[in-house]
Amino acid sequence: MPKLFIPGPIQVSEKTFAAFCKPMIGHRSGDFKKLYGGIQPRLKELFGTTQPVFLSTSSAWGVMEGSIRNLVGSGKVLNCMNGAFSDKWLDVSKKCGKDAVALQVEWGQPIRGEQLRTALSAGGFDAVTLIHNETSTGVMSDIREIAAVMREFPEVCLIVDTVSSFSVVPLPMDELGIDVLLTGSQKALAMPPGLALFAASKKAMERAATVKARGYYFDFVEFAKNQAEDMTPSTPSISHIYALESKIDDIFTEGVAARHARHAENNAIVHEWVRGKGLGFFAPEGYRSKALTCIANTTGIDVEALGKKAKERGFIIDGGYGKLKGKTFRLSNMGDETPETMRELLTALDASLV
Ligand SMILES: *Cc1c(COP(=O)(O)O)cnc(C)c1O
Repeated sequence: MPKLFIPGPIQVSEKTFAAFCKPMIGHRSGDFKKLYGGIQPRLKELFGTTQPVFLSTSSAWGVMEGSIRNLVGSGKVLNCMNGAFSDKWLDVSKKCGKDAVALQVEWGQPIRGEQLRTALSAGGFDAVTLIHNETSTGVMSDIREIAAVMREFPEVCLIVDTVSSFSVVPLPMDELGIDVLLTGSQKALAMPPGLALFAASKKAMERAATVKARGYYFDFVEFAKNQAEDMTPSTPSISHIYALESKIDDIFTEGVAARHARHAENNAIVHEWVRGKGLGFFAPEGYRSKALTCIANTTGIDVEALGKKAKERGFIIDGGYGKLKGKTFRLSNMGDETPETMRELLTALDASLV
């Protein structure tokens, strides 16, 4: 099988798969509670929170929709939009019947604090959604700048998607004042798709308790009630939780700071290759993702042909998301990749480009 270097799903290690395939246990059993409770302390440390970390058997979108249903009542939601995933969050908010307002910036640009301040100054907002790392464009917004502006609007909840930046860069939830921090399993965490992880601040939980029609499956109040007994509201994907336990072991064995440094190094190797090839970056300097690189196809490469040749050599890359197809291509450096495996990919791309 060719190796995945698309920005999600990404390559899953044999160790993670072995954990995924452990024998099943009952989800109300003592063994399950031990598994679930056992990973909580390290999950909280990774999230940078004293709040519990909830596990949702869904892809990230489940919790992205759930956050809207739990935190947006009769007020408005401001959806910060700068790429495919963040743009879609506006549609999802509308489909939930909420009064959704777009803060749209051009694809390839970050969300800036000043833009957020101007939009929120209109008043009447319950929540803001932000995608920290727009996987479609390779743009990482400055979470500290955003968080600083949010402090001027203490009545508004900040919902942050970190699907492709969680465990890639530090994201101290409590320190930043993030109200919901969510991520998914198949990107930065290098697990099979199908699990979402999230934590909610006290403010978010208090808000949720007052909002009507939260539904059941993604009801934060239900999650908290079950969490108190080391359980999930409904039967979770226990296999994913075994895989998560294994992944957390990996992360803490390596060391969180070392993991961040490895991602930065992987990413720098790709950047050096891009410059060497005379190619460009879709994201501006200072806002480039550390998890993937969205390469601007400034030299007129036949991206489709490149993708085919790379696949024959055993590597699958992404030929650009949606309207960026062919104009860009994306290389992931998330998960278990190392400088060595990144160089293997780039060597194969070199050979595919001649
Ligand atoms: C992939 C991705 C999602 C969607 O994840 P699903 O697993 O398809 O629900 C959301 N946000 C970002 C930033 C992503 O990269």
